[in-house]
Amino acid sequence: MAHMKIFNTLTRKKEEFIPQVEGEYKIYVCGPTVYNFVHIGNARPAVIFDTLRRYLEYRGNNVNYVSNITDIDDKIIKKANEDGTTFEAVARKYENEYYTDLKGLNVKPATSRPRVSDTIPEIIDIVQTLIDKGHAYRVDNGDVYFRVHSFSEYGKLSHNPLEELESGARIAVDDIKESPADFALWKASKPGEPKWESPFSEGRPGWHIECSAMSKKHLGDKIDLHCGGEDLIFPHHENEIAQSECANGCEFSHYWMHNAFLNVDNQKMSKSLNNFFTVREIAEQVGYEVIRYFLLTAHYRSPLNFTREIIDQCKSSLERLYTAREHLDFLIGHAGEGKDEIVAEADRLVAEFIAVMDDDLNTADALSKLFELVTFINVNGKEQSKAALEHAAKAFDEMAEVLGILYNRNKDEIPAEVKALVEERTAVRKEKNWARADQIRDELAAMGYEVKDTPQGPQIIKK
Ligand code: AMP
Ligand code: ZN
Repeated sequence: MAHMKIFNTLTRKKEEFIPQVEGEYKIYVCGPTVYNFVHIGNARPAVIFDTLRRYLEYRGNNVNYVSNITDIDDKIIKKANEDGTTFEAVARKYENEYYTDLKGLNVKPATSRPRVSDTIPEIIDIVQTLIDKGHAYRVDNGDVYFRVHSFSEYGKLSHNPLEELESGARIAVDDIKESPADFALWKASKPGEPKWESPFSEGRPGWHIECSAMSKKHLGDKIDLHCGGEDLIFPHHENEIAQSECANGCEFSHYWMHNAFLNVDNQKMSKSLNNFFTVREIAEQVGYEVIRYFLLTAHYRSPLNFTREIIDQCKSSLERLYTAREHLDFLIGHAGEGKDEIVAEADRLVAEFIAVMDDDLNTADALSKLFELVTFINVNGKEQSKAALEHAAKAFDEMAEVLGILYNRNKDEIPAEVKALVEERTAVRKEKNWARADQIRDELAAMGYEVKDTPQGPQIIKK
């Protein structure tokens, strides 16, 4: 069985992506902290790893895709205090807004979408196991810390040896910890914060432990792939590895994939830099699909720069794909006997599409295969037989479906009144009633349609 190759952050090599059980992939993707509308940078991992999932499924695999909702966090608590409400109210509101955005972006529903607040008993279990095994310790104020010196492989994902980390300025010295690199698994609650009963103190989980617990609960001790944005490599994913491997006594995930940043003026788009655009605001201007398309135009490990001009270009490119696909249906509707060259062309392009996707999910090159098919249709489509064109349409749809684009096609059924006007126009043109024909053209334009005369008859195009 052939496997696609992915760049594994753990080994820093492109490797064949082989699951533990052939044909079954267990994937965990770190999800957002829900205290605001997500920005386009946050949409990058959501769209990229959804495309990976779609591709693996297209190649005949089952994918168990788990992605969490972080609903306990300082930022959520701060926002709740500012708004005079509870952390749950803030989290549920923005969790729902996130789902609206994911649906708009055509991200398939995750197999499981766990929340931290629903995983507290499992989190407490892991923390207790780590204490029992000597990998964690409780301090007097009720906090629990992970003892990084107890895990000799600490630093293997970020390729940062522990000595370097400890001597670096990135970790604040803190008296209550044995080592400055130790990190919180459980935090005793402060007044006004949400809290849960535990054997350690009334408190709440640290950030990193949540993903170790949710991953174990929904996918088991060892998964096939863990993903997220590259800012999560250190400390988040490094700490997840330490917790999970020490608690479970086995490798956590052999494969790790990280997307590069979406930038604005060569700086990471982020809430804290206040240089962000929410998915919602851009979707309101150009539609969700343009955002998805834009995120696919670069390889996921390359930085991607956001500008309005690029978004507008993406809108036009996407329109070109829609027009070509409509045109293909039109040709099918009018074709009979003809050549079948497009069959070999479509087969070649699908094979190349698979080859570039197999090579570390090259969505940018995959898109270009669709455009090659568009060019062939435009140049040679008219001469092809109906059966050959139908074959090409199947290839077109297959590639679009894997990329998760062109999903608004069926919504664009041409209304009966538009069809009636086009028929009337054909009739009045036969009578050489050009004035009425022009009038109909204007009426159609006002309704958002254009009619193009082709040797096969009039073609209706939605503007
Ligand atoms: P957060 O809510 O900040 O934890 O982010 C959710 C996901 O979005 C994580 O996988 C982050 O790595 C990712 N992310 C955040 N900002 C960007 C960005 N500018 N470009 C790409 N990915 C990002
Ligand atoms: Zn995580």
